[in-house]
Amino acid sequence: MAASREDRVIYLDNAATTPCDPRVVEAMLPYFTEHFGNTGSRNHRYGWEAEAAVDTAREQVAALLGADEKEIIFTSGATESNNLAIKGVAYMYEKAPAGSGACRGHIITTSIEHKAVLDPCKRLQKEGFEVTFLDPPADGVFTAAMVEAAIRPDTILVSMMWANNEIGTINEVPQIGALCHARDIIFHTDATQWAGKMPVDVERDCIDLLSLSGHKLYGPKGIGALYVRRRKPRVRLQALVDGGGQERGYRSGTLNVTGIVGLGKAAALAKAEMDAEGQRLLALRKRLESMVTSQLDHCAVNGHADKRLPHIANISFGFVEGESLMMACKELAVSSGSACTSASLEPSYVLKGLGVGDELAHSSLRLSMGRFTKDSDIDAAVASIVKAVRKLRELSPLYDMHNEGIDLSKVEWGHH
Ligand SMILES: *Cc1c(COP(=O)(O)O)cnc(C)c1O
Repeated sequence: MAASREDRVIYLDNAATTPCDPRVVEAMLPYFTEHFGNTGSRNHRYGWEAEAAVDTAREQVAALLGADEKEIIFTSGATESNNLAIKGVAYMYEKAPAGSGACRGHIITTSIEHKAVLDPCKRLQKEGFEVTFLDPPADGVFTAAMVEAAIRPDTILVSMMWANNEIGTINEVPQIGALCHARDIIFHTDATQWAGKMPVDVERDCIDLLSLSGHKLYGPKGIGALYVRRRKPRVRLQALVDGGGQERGYRSGTLNVTGIVGLGKAAALAKAEMDAEGQRLLALRKRLESMVTSQLDHCAVNGHADKRLPHIANISFGFVEGESLMMACKELAVSSGSACTSASLEPSYVLKGLGVGDELAHSSLRLSMGRFTKDSDIDAAVASIVKAVRKLRELSPLYDMHNEGIDLSKVEWGHH
């Protein structure tokens, strides 16, 4: 059944996931059927074909990062890469054995990481490691000085996302990497929103471990990679999955050949098209932000003005209720500042961390553009948001009171 024009939903949620590039799908297809071999089959053609395809993909991912292909471990995605990096380092470099009562080692991360970093860190905390969760400044950007102030003699690992998935802010990763290298501390970065969009050179940027994910860069879901530095220093990890010893023993299990081929192709396309695509996305984002803020009062773009990814805009709208805003923008596929955690609707911990109040956090939208976003999508999205916000404000007694000059912070609300 053909979707009617009214049913068309504009996809502006590329930070949540991207569609597969058709060129990626095309590269993958033969590996489901004709070339279906297991890379572990060392004595026949099917195995060799699969292995050759994986080798090529490994080179493509390594090239995106300025790494050596031996330094790439394929995983099921960034969640697994983060777990392997963080727990793998913690268990390998611990300063005291489990159960000894002594601190097993100190880890520095931030309070606005993705859950795939926060939760492994919280688990390690329960297991006897000490973790410092740095709180962000109001602009969301973590500097090397902030990390330096938290370093202790027993710090074994710093894990800092390169760019934030909700607000797009960019941290001082190369400077933090250099700081860690000077202190012999291992440095991991969750580069899931960065890799494939912005340049990486693991040597220049002093990175020891880097996580990325296929489905955030126009590749398939369920495939990712972890870069593991092999020299200066040689980083060792304790494996989390035991078995056939694939991926240099770091990640046992039959390789996801189709997914790996797709990730490789996606990495090669990202590298080739990064400059042009980055410029186009930045122009789209700036246009969206300036159109929205010039047509509506009481809205704020969250995060640092410039140190932000080209493709993520996060905007808070005053005097509208978050859920109503989402309902009113049904023709847009975007993320809201409310995270649906189990039963309750919690305001985003990232926006809260920046000091955005609960109300404003709820009435925030993350709009993330991608390779297939057109100018006309931005125009339509802005028109829809402006219309929705104006309509909701017409119904808002608070907005009326504010416009009549009443200072809402001084109003005595009835207590129940
Ligand atoms: C999407 C995302 C992840 C999780 O990636 P998966 O491949 O879906 O496990 C981790 N970190 C960041 C910053 C992300 O944006």
